[in-house]
Amino acid sequence: MKTTCPYCGVGCGVEMVGGVVRGDADHPANAGKLCIKGSTLADTLDDSNRLRSPSIDGVKVSWDRALDKIASGFAATIAAHGPDSVAFYGSGQFLTEDYYVANKFIKGFAGTGNIDTNSRLCMASTVAGHIRAFGEDIVPGSYEDIDEADLIVLVGANAAWCHPILFERALAARAARGARIVVVDPRRTASAALADLHVPVRPDGDIALFARLLVALAARGHVDEGYVARHTGGLAQALAVAAEARDEDTGVEPPILNNFIDWFCATERVVTLFSQGVNQSVSGTDKVNAIINVHLATGRIGRPGMGPFSLTGQPNAMGGREVGGLANQLAAHLRFTPADLALLRGFWGAPNLTGRPGLKALDMFEAMLAGRIKAVWIAATNPAESMPQSAKVRAALAACPLVVVSDCWPTATTRHAKIVLPAAGWGEKDGTVTNSARTISRQRAFRAAPGEAKPDWWMICEVAKRMGFGAAFNFAGPAAIFREHAALSGHGNDGSRLFDISQHASISDAEYDALAPFTWGEKRYFGAAGRANIVPVRAPARVPDRGFGFILNTGRLRDQWHTMTRTGFVPKLLESGGQAQLALHPEDAEACGIGAGDLVRVTTRHGEAILPASLEAGQRRGEIFAAMHWTDEHSAAGSIGRLIGPARDRHSGQPALKSERAAIARVAVAWAGVMQSRAFVRPVGRFFASRVPLEGGLHRVSLAGWRPLHFGPGLADWAAGLCGAAAAAERIEFSDAGRGMFRLGLVQEGRLQACLFLAPKAALLPDPAALDLLFTVPDWGQDRAAMLLARAQPAAARDRMVCVCHRVSEAKIRAAITAQNLRDINELGRVLKAGTNCGSCKGELAAILQSTSMPELVT
Ligand code: SF4
Repeated sequence: MKTTCPYCGVGCGVEMVGGVVRGDADHPANAGKLCIKGSTLADTLDDSNRLRSPSIDGVKVSWDRALDKIASGFAATIAAHGPDSVAFYGSGQFLTEDYYVANKFIKGFAGTGNIDTNSRLCMASTVAGHIRAFGEDIVPGSYEDIDEADLIVLVGANAAWCHPILFERALAARAARGARIVVVDPRRTASAALADLHVPVRPDGDIALFARLLVALAARGHVDEGYVARHTGGLAQALAVAAEARDEDTGVEPPILNNFIDWFCATERVVTLFSQGVNQSVSGTDKVNAIINVHLATGRIGRPGMGPFSLTGQPNAMGGREVGGLANQLAAHLRFTPADLALLRGFWGAPNLTGRPGLKALDMFEAMLAGRIKAVWIAATNPAESMPQSAKVRAALAACPLVVVSDCWPTATTRHAKIVLPAAGWGEKDGTVTNSARTISRQRAFRAAPGEAKPDWWMICEVAKRMGFGAAFNFAGPAAIFREHAALSGHGNDGSRLFDISQHASISDAEYDALAPFTWGEKRYFGAAGRANIVPVRAPARVPDRGFGFILNTGRLRDQWHTMTRTGFVPKLLESGGQAQLALHPEDAEACGIGAGDLVRVTTRHGEAILPASLEAGQRRGEIFAAMHWTDEHSAAGSIGRLIGPARDRHSGQPALKSERAAIARVAVAWAGVMQSRAFVRPVGRFFASRVPLEGGLHRVSLAGWRPLHFGPGLADWAAGLCGAAAAAERIEFSDAGRGMFRLGLVQEGRLQACLFLAPKAALLPDPAALDLLFTVPDWGQDRAAMLLARAQPAAARDRMVCVCHRVSEAKIRAAITAQNLRDINELGRVLKAGTNCGSCKGELAAILQSTSMPELVT
């Protein structure tokens, strides 16, 4: 069964063969390759933590009861307070068919523009930048341009981790044709470690960088005057504004800056790939245009091997853009003009169609908190964790009279819902997705959804029918929705809208089932036809630190996805980055009295988090980094969303997730701990905790506290609660207040269910392997105290798994480099096989090579 990976915007084709996942050799995005996340998709098909039944106020109900309640709640709210009192918050995880009916329901029939999605956090600035430059949200190139480029520039894109299969294509272009790779990023990321040139731009220094480049291109005669005259407008004004930028605004040392400019000027075939480091900024839209400007000025666009190229974060952010899933869009690339509104109103038969854009994500939750939005449906996303000001978002959800959440798993957001609907997930529902390169692929169902879970499109249509809109939502299935979506793209389209897939408007159900991936529109745009705008953009003013001396950057880890609802339960995917932590430069750490592994309090004007320090020379001085993934489900004190404020791009409304002002301080550790359990237990309390899943369905939580433990009668109850003790469980306890040691085992029917070890410092905790052994004992019988006594060993130095595919750890790699004098990642691959399967770890291999002393260099 062929389907599509549900993670990133590369959109790789996947084949399920006898329960085994492999890459689809025929898919144009990946030609059979998969990264480690895609390769482990089968491991995520575990139903143990899934939502299975609809519920109201936590009580299981029938689908009819839940859907009636939602329909009557939305209808009553609209009747009492008007259409703008309701809202829908969707997701780039939606399939296009889910998205299409959600947008039609809210904009067309509920009569409000208040539908937005977590794509607002991902690529809204690219949408705004594309529309300013091209007049439509168009990606002008193709993945094949990466294969055919001579210079590949990545801006704010750690593709080696976040779009690994595309990064492999870039490495292949270097191997095949000598293409050079440049990474523009404040951090020395895994991508930068593999690049020919790393340009460590200061945060939000990208506009100045591309302004200096534009000026240099003009000064050195690289402007394509003929192309500019035929296809663009605005160059003179853009150049005048760009001339205001100074080299020092980039934050880049002159030799590196000049090197970048020289390479760019001298290379005709240049592709600029950009992603969240560009989008998630107060100046994201301007950054997008600064990048597009240099391609338009040189005519390096719309031809093989060249052009600006947005890498979308989510699997179907592009599909959402095609159906108008953002508050400021209409379906099928229609605009909020009287003519387009009339066209859509007629096509849908929707007299209530909203006439204006709705609230964007941040504004939507602010309106909820202020009481203006009184009913909201949140689908396939977890804003209680992922939105900026997450504490405020939770308050908004608590204040909203009707919160409906449809999702596959329980999350921090479902905990705030009045009505929870169980959603079918990947492998359980049918539809289409569009990747970063405009390629539409099928996701196909190959297994039954657990319990009563249903696809999102079905739930939305059922609610719409119950609100009296049955004629417009009587779809037999996703194929029927796709036909209408395709027909709308061609309806009244005289060629003024490039998005047109109306050739599929009469596709049969059987043809839809068999639909092969196809790319809509032309392979490339703005080469020989079309007109585009070169937009004058100015670098933003620097934000004063006001006592917050660091800039907090946030982002992804290699093997995790979003808020870990799927990937956080696969042991292999946490072996390379096993706990929440804060990266900072060693000299900053020394100046603040912080050592590796120390707890650090990170404070912003919006909240605080406490994380262990990771000292990384690849950080710029004055900048810190934390991964976005850890939530309250998987950690305590490590969730990052609460630190980020409301700053956003003024054009796109996209939040600035990568440049929050922060202060840091070392926190003295009063105790350390480790808890291991068979059941999933959410670590709740005022301490640091970070959970990893283990083989065999076990979970391990590392703990550290800054408040002293109180050795008294309450300690055992607190510890048992932390372990999620069942009432029937027997407790085996050991307490030594004098040495600050406490140990607890919970046994049920002879088997160890959970254990907790607390000590004054981590070095006194048992080795993880010793803990694993405790859980292999089939019946603890009479010797139960032994589980808490001699078996504990001093913890061994932690050895990180780098190549998860071939099980090669960092220690093994360093030993091989030293012993065998290995010099590059190809040699590492030959000797250890590291990096030879999915390739996701090549950046780390390069970094380890660079930081491991060679024998002849040791004096
Ligand atoms: S590169 Fe992206 S789409 Fe491809 S397998 Fe990896 S996560 Fe999935």
